[in-house]
Amino acid sequence: MSQLTAPELLERILDGNRRWSEGNTERDLLGAPSNPLEHQPPVAVIGCSDARVPPAAVLGAAAGAIFTLRLPGHYVDIPVAAGLGFAMTSLGTRLAIVLAHEDCRAVDAAYTEYTTGVPPNLALAPLTGSLAAGLYRAGGATSVTDAIDVNARNTAENLIAQCPSLRQALIDGDAQLAVLRYSPATRLVTVLEESVMPPRDATH
Ligand SMILES: [Zn+2]
Repeated sequence: MSQLTAPELLERILDGNRRWSEGNTERDLLGAPSNPLEHQPPVAVIGCSDARVPPAAVLGAAAGAIFTLRLPGHYVDIPVAAGLGFAMTSLGTRLAIVLAHEDCRAVDAAYTEYTTGVPPNLALAPLTGSLAAGLYRAGGATSVTDAIDVNARNTAENLIAQCPSLRQALIDGDAQLAVLRYSPATRLVTVLEESVMPPRDATH
């Protein structure tokens, strides 16, 4: 069987999420090997640690299909970027997805810290710093809901900046980077960005 392309993988992921939203528990292998001793996940998800948003489940994917990297508010640090680089270079991953979500308590706390200057939770300092930089670049946010989307796009930009193998694969057309936002209320994802590309000045 020929490999699914990144756009085909994204389409299958969105189908999988619709199944999840309808309570259908069927899982898609997304073209990954059915042999459980092999590890070639075609999709990587960089997502929040939020217990309501388990990536493979909400995207209707089977064991073996999705390589997962999760931190509260999905900020990008060196281990996250290195983990994605490992998936891209050694495991054949072709589609990277930033999986943000509504009602993100981590982003809410970081945004509150950013807007009030009162640290609600010092453990979130790396996220607050990352969000602050993203808000600066985006020209600010009007609400927590808005900040969640800014944070999602910020994660995608930081992945490109910090993961050279992702950046090169995007430039070469060998991979795709998408940004989705999940709603715990509807159980559906919204596509915020179908394909994020490196900025022009970073392409050479
Ligand atoms: Zn969250």
